[in-house]
Amino acid sequence: MEPLAKTVVANRIQALLAVAEGHWGRPFPEPVITYDLRGRTAGQAIFRQNRIRINRVLLENNFDAFIKQTVGHELAHLVCWQLYGPRAKAHGAEWKKVMGVLGLPPLRCHTFDTSKSVARRPLPTFPYACRCRVRQLTSIRHRRMLAKPEYYKCTQCQEALRPAA
Ligand SMILES: [Zn+2]
Ligand SMILES: [Zn+2]
Repeated sequence: MEPLAKTVVANRIQALLAVAEGHWGRPFPEPVITYDLRGRTAGQAIFRQNRIRINRVLLENNFDAFIKQTVGHELAHLVCWQLYGPRAKAHGAEWKKVMGVLGLPPLRCHTFDTSKSVARRPLPTFPYACRCRVRQLTSIRHRRMLAKPEYYKCTQCQEALRPAA
């Protein structure tokens, strides 16, 4: 992940915290940011750890909207927790108020394309055979075999692999 992207996230957090601190006249602790979220969820706020988890694939593929809305959304959860504690519902009136102060629409969900962030389908493989067995080669190895047909030999029978129907 590009260090620049992390800097942009950190700067965005700083700017939003400054707005919150100006509005409520109190400091808010700077959250820890981790980039370990996978799948369809864009971001996640862990209140008790004052931590924001970020889906780096969705960040990289939706950069501007992610920085503006998702980072704001998750930070609003942490600010909300600092202000109201567990009595505020996750996307309730208090959170919506914080979003308003941060100048953001109180949207619950993102509309990012998650096709790149969810587990991928297995890559295509190509069957090759020697005297002793058939095995699946990756497309990289397959292309190498097309260019140079005797490139891979079986380590057991020493026969060159050939395409298996
Ligand atoms: Zn949320
Ligand atoms: Zn063999």
